[in-house]
Amino acid sequence: MPQHIVIIGNGISGITCARHIRKQSNDEITIISSESEHFYSRTALMYIYMGHMKYEHTKPYEDWFWKKNKLKLVKDHVVAIDIKEKKINFQTGTSLNYDKLVIASGSVSNRPPFPGMELKGVQSLYGGKIYKVNTPWDIKFINIGGKKYDLNNIEHGILRKKYNDPRIHFALVCAAVSCPRLRNEAYTAAQLNAQLDDAGKEFLNDRSKNRVNTDKAELSKYFSWYGGDFTKNGSLADYINKYSDTKINSKTRISYLDYNWSINEQK
Ligand SMILES: Cc1cc2nc3c(=O)[nH]c(=O)nc-3n(C[C@H](O)[C@H](O)[C@H](O)COP(=O)(O)OP(=O)(O)OC[C@H]3O[C@@H](n4cnc5c(N)ncnc54)[C@H](O)[C@@H]3O)c2cc1C
Repeated sequence: MPQHIVIIGNGISGITCARHIRKQSNDEITIISSESEHFYSRTALMYIYMGHMKYEHTKPYEDWFWKKNKLKLVKDHVVAIDIKEKKINFQTGTSLNYDKLVIASGSVSNRPPFPGMELKGVQSLYGGKIYKVNTPWDIKFINIGGKKYDLNNIEHGILRKKYNDPRIHFALVCAAVSCPRLRNEAYTAAQLNAQLDDAGKEFLNDRSKNRVNTDKAELSKYFSWYGGDFTKNGSLADYINKYSDTKINSKTRISYLDYNWSINEQK
């Protein structure tokens, strides 16, 4: 019996997947994208910016291709997936049931921690008007004093900007394996300084997060992503030496460990 296969994302991954499924089966296939009606070559985006090409020139398939291959296209933004009900919910308030779901929603661009990145108008190619994936960091679900915030607002717009204390990177936990450990007590005003220092010591001396040796230090990606935060008042080595039991110097070879985004667990 044909199944309904829903693919979120009409980029190269989603479309290649759809084409291969179609070659092998007569299943009902729906492809969803909130960005554009049809698949276009992302790699040609720069030529659009340069004025050498138009959107129409970047579409690898003619518009009739989708109908001919019975690939249904939906232009809407997925805001939630109900795995139990096998249902996805759209921004427009509608929903769609699936038998099998493929998530080919692309990656999130890395926004380097340069001063000013949070200013209005500064965007990556996939940001702003062109494209925005609704990452967990961008959803305004935190209600403080009647105002709605997202995690990015809090981390980059408030904590990093206003308090200018890189120790927050040892305290914020995004539930990934490479994050600092989730503290089993609340941060309180009275103890905050001691708690942040303690979090720094724990993070730097945990060899699954940072492997610090005098000749070679393999550091957490945080020290690369937020390098500027840690070097405002001295070198990176100075900062590491505040918390690491093993001290490093200007000759120490520094590299950065891959970030493990797998979900963390209680140990
Ligand atoms: C300017 C530029 C030049 C590049 N040049 C090269 C190159 O030369 N060589 C190379 O190998 N790579 C290059 N890349 C990278 C390449 O384009 C990407 O790696 C590739 O497009 C990723 O494909 P994807 O299908 O995984 O995701 P994407 O192409 O990012 O597609 C993701 C899809 O998911 C949809 N989506 C996401 N979230 C939702 C949601 N919540 N609801 C509905 N739809 C959603 C989006 O609308 C989009 O259709 C370039 C990228 C850019 C921007």
